[in-house]
This record gives sequence, structure tokens and C-alpha cells, in this order.
Amino acid sequence: MEKKDKIYVAGHNGMVGSAIYRKLKEEGYENIVVRSSKELDLRNQPEVQSFFQKERPDFVFLSAAKVGGILANNQFRAEFLYDNLAIQNNVIHQAYKNEVQKLLFLGSSCIYPKLAAQPIKEEYLLTGLLEPTNEPYAIAKIAGIKMCEAYRDQYGCNFISVMPTNLYGTNDNYDLQKAHVLPSLLRKFHEAKINKMPRVEVWGSGSPRREFLHVDDLADACLFLMKEYNSKEFVNIGTGQDISIKELAELIKDIIKFEGKIHWDQSKPDGTPRKLLDVSKVHGIGWQHKTPLKEGILKTYTDKFL
Ligand code: GDP
Repeated sequence: MEKKDKIYVAGHNGMVGSAIYRKLKEEGYENIVVRSSKELDLRNQPEVQSFFQKERPDFVFLSAAKVGGILANNQFRAEFLYDNLAIQNNVIHQAYKNEVQKLLFLGSSCIYPKLAAQPIKEEYLLTGLLEPTNEPYAIAKIAGIKMCEAYRDQYGCNFISVMPTNLYGTNDNYDLQKAHVLPSLLRKFHEAKINKMPRVEVWGSGSPRREFLHVDDLADACLFLMKEYNSKEFVNIGTGQDISIKELAELIKDIIKFEGKIHWDQSKPDGTPRKLLDVSKVHGIGWQHKTPLKEGILKTYTDKFL
């Protein structure tokens, strides 16, 4: 990827796309193409076709997707399946039709079986049943990976896929009904502190374990792999370290300096018991994350709330 190459970042207003866009700018790429969802509805096949025919990008980061936390995934099951399938079908197919040199597809760690052995290796894909709360999203993402593989097999396209773990950082969603756990807890503890509330509601039992990666580290990994990696097998991206939701809640409570109590709302679902990626493959290719969790949370909190 040269500095003058035309690079399309699909989903540049989202958390991942905006981080990739910032990183490209930072590294001096000068020919970046973007469209907001109002300008270009990626679910619309003719619109995507004319966009690709007009722009003919050399490289594509496919970071556009409908995303959300455990409740949103469970509630808007049809939208998570339809929107994601439509977006990736249109973008991947037009990338092939318009001879894009290389495309990077963003998947998600929820593609793995609910009860996968931990840490999760890439080869565990499709070895067991999925977590029901996010099955539609996971099915769409699995289809995206398989599409990249099939277009490579049949047409020789250099399309690669990465599977990031749970992300946090700049441009995250803080809507309490739709957001993931980390941004939700930042907002809940912050508001409880400001309003001098006695307690904060945290969902589930606190025992599930999750791995968290700062989105700037993910963007760094995506640029690295766009330059260095050209194989069919998709690649996990994470830190290789996880913590329980209970530990996360306590860490955030400490960082924010909230003095009240944590109340566990056990009527809310726990979801997958543990989600920790095996990151030995990406380490082997030569990439490691840089941001320690505590530092990343503190920075995210300061930027968003202070
Ligand atoms: P998941 O990784 O797909 O399960 O998605 P989430 O990030 O939404 O949830 C991770 C875990 O955090 C689940 O066990 C949730 O029940 C738990 N959790 C605790 N409090 C919250 C909260 O306020 N919001 C969300 N989204 N999850 C929470």
C-alpha cells in the first residue's frame, strides 16, 4: 500500500472505521475515500455498484457494519442479519468486480462457538453452536469471512479477514440499551458519581470473562496486516488477556472514583461465559497490542467525560 494509493474506508464514522481513518492520515496516506451512510447506503446494491465504478479504489477496509451490545443484538435480530449480510455482499462483490487490489474484512470474536475452548484459536470456527444472543450477527460475520475465502479461491482476490476481540475507545456507542459493557459502565459510574447516587446497576452475575482491546491498537493491526499479510486464513486480534465483568466493574469504579456500591442485576443475560482470543498467530506475524487496559480506560474516560 503506497501513500498515493486510493484507499476506501467503509464505515469511517464508526468506532473502527474512524480509528483506521485517523491512523491512515497519521501515516501520511493522502488519497482516502469515504462516504457517510447518508451519502451511500451500503445495503443498496445499485448505489454500491456505481460508487465502486466511479471511484475504483485500490484498497478497501470493510469496517462498515451494524453493531451493538448483548441487548441490541438480541432485540434487533433481523436487522443485524440483513444489514450486515447486505453491506458485506455488496462491498466484497463490487471490490472483486472493480479489481480492488486488496480488501480487509472486519469480523468479530463472537463468530466462535459459545463453549469454545479458551483461549480461542482461529481453527475453532464452526466447531460448535453459537451464543444465541448474538447468533444473527455472528452468522453474518461468518458469511463475510467465507466470502473473502471463496473470492480468493475462485477469483484469486487478495481479500483477508481479521477477528477483533471486544473493542473500546474513541467514537464508541454510549447508549445504555445498545452499548457494550465497557462504555456502558463508564457512563453509568460517571453519572452515578456526578449525581451522588448510592449504587450502580451492573448486568448479569459478573462472572463472564472478556478481553478488551483499544480501537487504536486494532487500527494499527489492520494497517499492519494490510501491508504484511496475504493469506486465506483469518487472523485473531486481541491482547491475549481477559478479566471478569466483576473485575472490570471494580476497575472502572476505581478509575472514576465512585464511592457507592455495585448492584448485580441478575435478570439480564450473562452471554458467553468466556471470550479470550488466542493471539499467537498475529504475534507470529509480528504485531502486538500497545495500550494497557487501565491506561486505555483512563484515556477513554478522560476524553469522553472530562
Ligand atoms: P458480549 O461480549 O457480546 O456478551 O456483549 P456485552 O459487552 O454487551 O456484554 C458483556 C458482558 O457484560 C455480559 O455478561 C453482560 O451481561 C455484562 N454487562 C454488565 N453490565 C453491562 C451493561 O451495563 N451493559 C452491557 N452491554 N453489558 C453489561
